[in-house]
Amino acid sequence: MTYSSGIHPDVPPSGNGCVECLAASPSGWWFHLRRCAECGHVGCCDSSPSQHARAHYRNSGHRRIQSFEPGEDWYWDFATDDYADGPKLAAPAHHPEDQPVPGPAGAVPADWLQRLHR
Ligand SMILES: [Zn+2]
Ligand SMILES: [Zn+2]
Repeated sequence: MTYSSGIHPDVPPSGNGCVECLAASPSGWWFHLRRCAECGHVGCCDSSPSQHARAHYRNSGHRRIQSFEPGEDWYWDFATDDYADGPKLAAPAHHPEDQPVPGPAGAVPADWLQRLHR
């Protein structure tokens, strides 16, 4: 498998949740999580209210993410807006299985389904 530069497989993920959502006050919330393949930043997906994974790409130029959801290992390239190939990244490969989706616990509004980007 070939892939271009900009992927650092040895960098662990930044944590179990979206960096920016968890830093906000009150806490933001996410639907699914994505992990930057270059620096390990964990951000929320494009369906989430704040789309922090894409914002991270805009701010940093780090173009490739991998899904941080259990059972998913696909890559996405924001620069081409298409699926991409990539290597296995440092563990953990996804957030804890018992972590709620959407998350984080306690910050998700009752009408979250209506608030997703489609
Ligand atoms: Zn977020
Ligand atoms: Zn990054």
